[in-house]
Amino acid sequence: MRLNDAPRFTLAQLPTPVEELPRLSAELGGPTLLVKRDDQTGLALGGNKTRKLEYLLADALSVQADVLITAGGPQSNHCRQTAAAAAKVGIDCDLVLGGEPPQETNGNILLDLFCGAKLHYTTGDRDQKMQEIAGERRAAGKVPYVIPVGGSNGLGSLGYVQAAFELVEQLKTVGDVDQIVVASSSGGTHAGLVLGAKLAGLSAEILGISIDQLPTQQPTFEVELSQIAQEAADRIDAQVQIRPEDFRLNYDYLGGGYGVIGHLEREAIWKAARSDALILDPVYTGRAFGALLDLVRRDQITGKRVLFWHTGGAPALFARVEDLMLPADT
Ligand SMILES: *Cc1c(COP(=O)(O)O)cnc(C)c1O
Repeated sequence: MRLNDAPRFTLAQLPTPVEELPRLSAELGGPTLLVKRDDQTGLALGGNKTRKLEYLLADALSVQADVLITAGGPQSNHCRQTAAAAAKVGIDCDLVLGGEPPQETNGNILLDLFCGAKLHYTTGDRDQKMQEIAGERRAAGKVPYVIPVGGSNGLGSLGYVQAAFELVEQLKTVGDVDQIVVASSSGGTHAGLVLGAKLAGLSAEILGISIDQLPTQQPTFEVELSQIAQEAADRIDAQVQIRPEDFRLNYDYLGGGYGVIGHLEREAIWKAARSDALILDPVYTGRAFGALLDLVRRDQITGKRVLFWHTGGAPALFARVEDLMLPADT
């Protein structure tokens, strides 16, 4: 099956815009910065999971699923967009969220509830919990469809193969870019982009900023990314071999761990908003954009035109207000 023949359920408003960041680019005196606005995909406040869900939801509907089950962190953007996708087609949604139930209902959690999702908290194994819920749902006569964390399998990453083709078209108007910087965590976005770049003839170097994957893990993150991308390639009969060496990752910005907001994230969020009214998120794009700013300052960015792929996540800001305030003396 070719990419254009892969079943897809329209959820996103595409193409998402490509914009320049003129004030910040001037202030830094480095490369011209551009942004791909996948925070504006349009599904329940948008984000990168929408593109993946177009393929995952189509697959779920093709097997007559009537309940989507997925999992994520305590303020998962993926879970929020999955809840929204389920609401759009009028099927149920069970979300497995890591951790203890929060003290307050806010951010993504509030939107999950608006969209009618059932929330299940666990401090244990999320995959196991999803299987448990799937079993219960089956016993009740439902047809569950389990989506992995982040929607990051070969099928979901087709959303980012398609996105690479979309960007190639847009660059014909806005001009080429030398580098693309993107937050990478469960990997489907990065994997799809690297495969899509190969297939669409996008020559820009793609640099993934690891949000929470460690350079020491086994199998390595690069191996996992290449497996997702190869699975996607095989699905669309693309005759390419994807190798771990096809992925460029930076592991220098792991900070205090997943979801821990430090100076890097805080500074990036305030700076992007004050200079060009670009709203980042506290977990992914705050970290990845903070990394980009730091790399520019250290002269580690070689490109003259660099595109930051905004993957969304702003609803989580409203769950983290205290941690995002600048110290009084700045
Ligand atoms: C999930 C997510 C990412 C990471 O994308 P992966 O495909 O999981 O690597 C980046 N940014 C935001 C806002 C996300 O929600």
